[in-house]
Order: sequence, then structure tokens, then C-alpha cells
Amino acid sequence: MDLQSPIEEVKGVGPKTAAALKRVNLCTVGDLVYCLPRLYENYQTTTNIADLRPGKVVIRGKIGDLHVVRTSRKHLTITQGVIRDETGAIRTLWFNQPYRAKQFDEKREYYFTGKYELKSGRYQLTSPSATLVQDIDTDASSGFQPIYSAKSVIKPQTFHKLLESLRPDFVKIPDLLPFTEGSPSFVKPGARAEALYNSHFPENPDDAEQGRQYLAYEELFELILAAKLNQQENQRLKSIPLQFSTAHTQVLVKHLPFQLTGAQRRATWEILQDLERNIPMNRLLQGDVGSGKTIVAALAAAQATQNHHQTAFLAPTAILATQHFESLQNLFTSLRDSILRDYSTNPCKSGDSTLANSNKKKFRIPRIALLTGSTRNKRQLKSAIASGKVDLVIGTHALLTDDTNFHSLAFCIIDEQHRFGVNQRQKLLLKSPTNTAPHLLSMTATPIPRSLQLTVFGDLDVSIVNELPPGRQPITTKILSETDQRDELYPKMQELLAKGQQIYWICQVIEEKNANTATPVKKQAKKLAELFPKVNVGILHGKMKPDEKDATMTEFAENKIQILVSTTVVEVGVNVPNANMIIIQDSENYGLAQLHQLRGRVGRGDQPASCFLLTTGEGKPSKRLKEMEKSTDGFHLAEVDLKIRGPGEIYGAQQHGELNLQVANLADTELISKASHHASEFAKNPENLNDYPELAMRIKKYQQLTTLN
Ligand code: ADP
Ligand code: MG
Repeated sequence: MDLQSPIEEVKGVGPKTAAALKRVNLCTVGDLVYCLPRLYENYQTTTNIADLRPGKVVIRGKIGDLHVVRTSRKHLTITQGVIRDETGAIRTLWFNQPYRAKQFDEKREYYFTGKYELKSGRYQLTSPSATLVQDIDTDASSGFQPIYSAKSVIKPQTFHKLLESLRPDFVKIPDLLPFTEGSPSFVKPGARAEALYNSHFPENPDDAEQGRQYLAYEELFELILAAKLNQQENQRLKSIPLQFSTAHTQVLVKHLPFQLTGAQRRATWEILQDLERNIPMNRLLQGDVGSGKTIVAALAAAQATQNHHQTAFLAPTAILATQHFESLQNLFTSLRDSILRDYSTNPCKSGDSTLANSNKKKFRIPRIALLTGSTRNKRQLKSAIASGKVDLVIGTHALLTDDTNFHSLAFCIIDEQHRFGVNQRQKLLLKSPTNTAPHLLSMTATPIPRSLQLTVFGDLDVSIVNELPPGRQPITTKILSETDQRDELYPKMQELLAKGQQIYWICQVIEEKNANTATPVKKQAKKLAELFPKVNVGILHGKMKPDEKDATMTEFAENKIQILVSTTVVEVGVNVPNANMIIIQDSENYGLAQLHQLRGRVGRGDQPASCFLLTTGEGKPSKRLKEMEKSTDGFHLAEVDLKIRGPGEIYGAQQHGELNLQVANLADTELISKASHHASEFAKNPENLNDYPELAMRIKKYQQLTTLN
């Protein structure tokens, strides 16, 4: 079997099917073979209704009495039915799936798989999946059935048929991984073919597990090898070394408005030392929301300035770029003033020996500028950047345009790096002088679990700011049903507003379009304005013009607005220390990382803060929300998120959506360490990759997806 053959060569694929397959990126035989089952249903063991015990069950029976029940709750419909076999009958129901009422043929038998549980005093089968018995009990099937994720345009039957037609050829799938030094014993001739076969046509759970294990290993090996090769390539690039003057940095640190935390000091030190080298730094600065990463980046930028080179500071939103600009503007102005003041008094008298040692004339503080989509006089600003009159440019995507040129860009800072795609980052990095690559500092508050660091982020050095500035108060988090707002939430809001503090209220969308999932910003703002007539309620959403957004944000920062009703535009980075309560509506609809980011908007001052997660849903709060209630530790939440959702979801569709790991479980540290050892051995002689053309091709793709340089 040639995995590179076009999909048309598979028996049974006509032009129509081919087009449908291509629409979901299945273009070659290999793509099809690597489209692995999401899970398996075991129809080998069904239970008679009379013998059911609570838990996950498979029942074989017929369904009847189907009808849709409208409930008194908005947005909720229930479809009910009764499943019968020879031993008895049970109630079954689905939430918000009204099509279920028409889906079944009451005369035919189905396998129903779902959770059998006690609800409101009655046993029921909740939201089962269903498959026609006839489709399973064929001669070819073992009753242990792979389930492929919904590739909506292709019917599962078609998919099964195509694989079935390839089945005899599976033994001919060539090996992929090198059996070299360091490879584990299960990487052996024929193992890949066997694993793929076992994944698609398992006879029992053990087969499926064998297949999964091997393919997971393959995926991890490729990822890690790609990362190692990236690292080697990065080491071959040249960067502009930025000399580290301890005296200079000490003066800056001494004149900061606050004392650096130990973690900030360590991170700054690591970065400043990296910048001295003539190979580009590729470092991730990782620190929970509010840990003070910006100042660390600012000190690094100051080192570039001191060396007469430029820094670009990229932020994902105009609000955030503006805020960074303003706070750094303040910081550098006050540093300049206070350092100059110290120079004009006798440095020896003030006991400032470092100052005496450093030369006043040579002391440079960054001249900074802001470049966003709404910046006026762009041309003027761009020519100032090109001629080197600006040392530090803070900006959004506007920085990436082709007509933004630098005089001498030596250092790039990317805030909330997961918000940017590889191409965007690469655009920025290409703006450095010919034959050099800039040093890169990426910052993120979405912690990257250790396992991901070893794999996807294997080519990165990491500095961690794991200490919050002193005086921060803990944030209390509470899940609250929307029906309890009046009694539980409004009095607390009133109390907080009476103390002169401010509130964020997060809604999901702005227009009525998705009326059943989110309450619009405007409507909510109106409601809150009526409830709290004494304060000003502002709104913020993605459809506002950048100027309007900035104006609203400024008013909120200046406490002219007390309640800010917003979409997730405020999610990243925004810093208003007087805002001490955040209410997140429809909180079930967000991922953990996003909830944690949103919650990080509060608790940034010296007052206690709280976060309310409002839910509309039926039943118990999700595991995700309960984790939020229990923990404020971003690292812990990231590990949980990784387990629940997988890396693609967490690290953004832009960056790693395509990565879409199929089988590897990034929590499987043992497999990761085996793959890491094997890949390291192989990477010692990268030219050996020439002997493995298929592997080389696959690695190339991973290299592009994971490289940060
Ligand atoms: P993040 O890591 O989330 O980007 P920021 O850099 O925005 O955090 O810092 C959050 C707030 O903490 C800012 O108001 C900043 O001025 C303040 N801050 C940073 N470091 C310290 C420190 N060492 N002591 C006191 N406040 C600090
Ligand atoms: Mg930040």
C-alpha cells in the first residue's frame, strides 16, 4: 500500500466521495489510514434490562413511545422514549436533541450505549448513542466497533466501507520509525502495519490498546524529533548580542516603583544572560495572571536600548497594546526623572555607588511608541522606527505589515503568545537586519504543562514567574445558578460598589443571534443599569471600533465606569486593580484556560476579590467549573484542561489546531520519556533522516507547526 497515493485510488471512491473526503482534509490513502477511531464500542457485552446496574451500559432492544417534552425552562427540550428487550423496559431521554424523536424505526433493533442512572427518584438511560444492530452484527465485525469522530460530510458506513476495501493491504504498510540506537523493543519491523490494522479492525480491547500505544509513540517521536531539529536549526542562526551591564540593570531595578519579587529577579537574570549570546534566544516567560511579567520584559528591552538596538513588543489586542504602552511610558518617564535626579545630587552622598560607577552620558532609557490599527500619523511613526528614533515599539498586528521596517531590530517580545499563529510570529522575526534573527521572548499566562514542554515546546527555554507580588488577596470563586442571582449576587455587588470598587460582567456575544446560548451585552447592561441606578454601566465588545474600545477601557480604568459589561475582549492581560469582582455568565461555555484568564482580571490590587460563575444548565456543574471553584493555581488548571480537552484546544486553533494530536496522551510521561530518548539519539546524526523520506516529510510538517522561530 502506498500511503502517498491519492484518495481516488481507493476502491469505491468516485469523484463525489473524493470531493467530500478532501473537504475534511483526507487527500491520500495515508490520510485515510491515519484517521483513527475516537473510541470503541464494545457490543460483545450487552446487559439485559432486568440486570442493569448504574453506570455505563450497552443494551440491545427496540425503542418506542418517543416524544418531545417542552420544559418550563427556556432553551431546554427533552426527548423521551422507552427501550424494551425481552426482560423489561426502561425510560431514556436526551436533552436538546429533538431530532431523536424521529430518528428511530420502532420495529428495528438497536444497540443503545449510555449512562444508566437514578434521576429524580427514577432509573433512566441518559443521552444514549444508538446503532442499528444490523450494522454491527455482520460477519466481518467482531462486535468490538471503532467509532470515528463525526466527519459530518461522510457517512460512517461509507467510511467503514472504504477502510474495509483497504483491509487486505494493511500488511503492506511500510515501516516508518528508525530501529536505531535507543528505540524501544516494540519499534520493530511490521509493528506500524500491525498497529494501524489493530486500530481499525480490532477483535478485542487488547488489540485496540496495542494499536493506540504504538501510534501514540510514533506521534510523540515525530513531535519530539521535530522540536529537536528546530532547536538545532535555531542554534545555527546568528543574532545580535546585547551586552549585559550589571551596573546599568541595577540602577534601573533600584529606581523601580516597587521591589521585584524573587521570581522576577531570576527570570530577568536568565533573559539578560541569554540576550548576550550571538545565537538567538528562544525563551518562554511563563507566569500566572498578575505575576508581573511585563516589567521583566521591560528590563530586557532596556538592555537592547542600552546596546543601541530596537525592540518590538507585540500584543494580541489594541486594548492590551495601549495599556502596555501607557504603563511602560509611565515607568520609563519616572525612571528617567528619578535617575537624572540622583545624578544631579551627589551620588556618593546618596550612597549610590552603582550609579557613580555607571556613566551618565551612556545611560539610555527606551524611547517608546505605540502602533495599532488606529494609530494616527502612521507614516511618520514608521519612518521614525525605520530610522531608529524609536527604541521600543509596542503594537498589535499593525506591527507586522510589510511597510513596517526597523533600523535594527534585535529583540522581539510577544505577549500572550498563544494568541498568535506561527506565520504571524515569523513575520515579525523576519524584520531583523539581514543574516540575523532577533532574540525572542514569548510570554504566556496559560501555563504549559511539563509534558507539553517536552514535546510540542521542546525547543524552548523556559523562565517561570511563580510568585505573585506581595499584598495580593486571594480570589474566592463560586458557581451560582442564574436563578439565584437576585438573592445571592446582587447584594454582594451592591456592597462592593458601595465601597467604591468596580465590577466586570462577562457575556458571550453581542447580538441576539445565538439567543439560546448567551445573553447579549447590551441587554445585560441595561438590566444592570436599572438594578444599580447610582453607578455607571459601560459596555465593551469586539464589534466596537478600536477608538471606542480604548475610550471605554480608559473610563473603566479611571473609575468613571463602575460596572463593565463585556465580551471576552477583556480576557487577556487587562489590568484594573480597583476591579474586584467578576461575574461570568454562561460559564459552562468557556474552557478552563479562558475562565482562568478572565478570573485573572480581578485580584490585582490589595483588596479581596471574587469571581461568580453563572450557570443556566440542567444538572450538576461540570468538572471544569468545579475545578475553577477549587483552585486558583494556573498550572494545576492547565494540567486538568489538558486531560479534558487535549493540547489543540488549549493552545489555540491558530497555533496548534492543526497539530491535532490523534492518539498521544500528553500525560503519558513514560512513553514521552522513551520517545524523547529515541529522538535524541536519532537527532545526533540528522543527516540520517535522508534514509527515511516519509518520516522526513511528516517531521517537516510538525517542524513548521511547532517552531517558535
Ligand atoms: P501579568 O504577568 O499578568 O502580565 P502584569 O505585568 O500586568 O502581570 O502585572 C500586574 C500588576 O502587578 C501590574 O500593575 C504591575 O505594575 C504590578 N507589579 C508587577 N510586579 C510587581 C512587584 N514586584 N511588586 C508590586 N507590584 C508589581
Ligand atoms: Mg500580561
